[in-house]
Amino acid sequence: MINISRLLKVRETAQDVEKHHNKRAHEVPKHLVRYANSKVPMVIWNITRKCNFSCNMCHLDSALEADSDELTTQEAIEFIDQMASMSVPLVSVYGGEPLTRDDFFTLAGHAHNKGLRIILSSNVALITKKTAGEIAESGISYVGIDLDGLAQIGGDMDVIAGLEKALPAMERLRDAMVGCGVRITIGSFNLSQMPSIIKAIENTGLKRFAICQHLEGKDWKALKEERREIMDFLIDYAMKNPEMEVVTENFYADGVYLLQRVAKHEPERAAEMERLLAMQGGCPAGDRIVNVDYRGNVHLCPYWQSRTIGNIREQKLSDIWSDEENEILAMMRDKTHYLKGMCGRCRRNHLCMGCGARAEVMCGDPSEEDPACYAHDSRAAKRGITTLKETARNSR
Ligand code: SF4
Ligand code: SF4
Repeated sequence: MINISRLLKVRETAQDVEKHHNKRAHEVPKHLVRYANSKVPMVIWNITRKCNFSCNMCHLDSALEADSDELTTQEAIEFIDQMASMSVPLVSVYGGEPLTRDDFFTLAGHAHNKGLRIILSSNVALITKKTAGEIAESGISYVGIDLDGLAQIGGDMDVIAGLEKALPAMERLRDAMVGCGVRITIGSFNLSQMPSIIKAIENTGLKRFAICQHLEGKDWKALKEERREIMDFLIDYAMKNPEMEVVTENFYADGVYLLQRVAKHEPERAAEMERLLAMQGGCPAGDRIVNVDYRGNVHLCPYWQSRTIGNIREQKLSDIWSDEENEILAMMRDKTHYLKGMCGRCRRNHLCMGCGARAEVMCGDPSEEDPACYAHDSRAAKRGITTLKETARNSR
């Protein structure tokens, strides 16, 4: 996740972050968890594949029915106990749609009693007033609203209509004192609507949104141009609207691109930003995050289902995570030494690390260059964007 607003507005300074950098992640304030220098990962847990929608955009393995081999209530409770004994800093619960599980509040309540911090990702279609109250009671402090299902009209996507449909559920969550923000999927099909989509988000009264890039079946060259356009728009918007928190997901090259833009005019701010991005450390897969699916399979991140590093039915997550013989884990924890191609040559690879999931799909090798990168330094220089070192040299 790249939090454009926090990085631009220096809402946390490198000095603030350094105070917490060597603490265990559960001891760090929630908004700084991504900087914690922890050996314990945040867990992204897809607790069911069942979803009440069937969206074209869905990047998850979801279906209208639950899988017959999903973790039982007892297995899920045992897994929660495992996470609590590891002091997992944050559990992000995904589906399918998590609220379709009959035992959802039993599990959430148990996790809360065990001291785990939980955030929920939901399409909110099932959030009645009673459900909003139960969410609050089970200690869930934040709901990330995935609009895809609500926004799908036939085969098309209409985010503004989706936002209108989500409004009553947002009100119920607000009344129950549960924070929420939306995740919007952007691609060539709705790029031209970005300004009106963001206006519609403002009208809902939300103070945070996340942008997720639509990646399926992409022509990488077109995607790179599209991503630059999206980022230019979001950076300009975040600068003019400091009260809104603007976040991007699944693209760590966004941090490098943001840095290049800021370095052009404000080298001091860029130096601070570079320190923060370095402490965050780029792609967290297999290093600071792990994904567990509804059958208990453990993956490096939710977008990398082709790699399974164990199953929590057979082995404790802590043992899977600390297996020093596991080559892919060793690589992900020291990735700058393994990166190849453009990512290997990139001067900012320690801030980003490329994307192993995309590289593996494209080249069969997770240490290969990220095929979707649009922010490599040498290419940026050709486009007239000055790098940090060049800025410092020019200002002498
Ligand atoms: S070249 Fe690789 S490491 Fe550098 S910004 Fe692009 S994706 Fe990130
Ligand atoms: S492997 Fe790719 S999709 Fe997964 S967390 Fe890293 S950058 Fe994101």
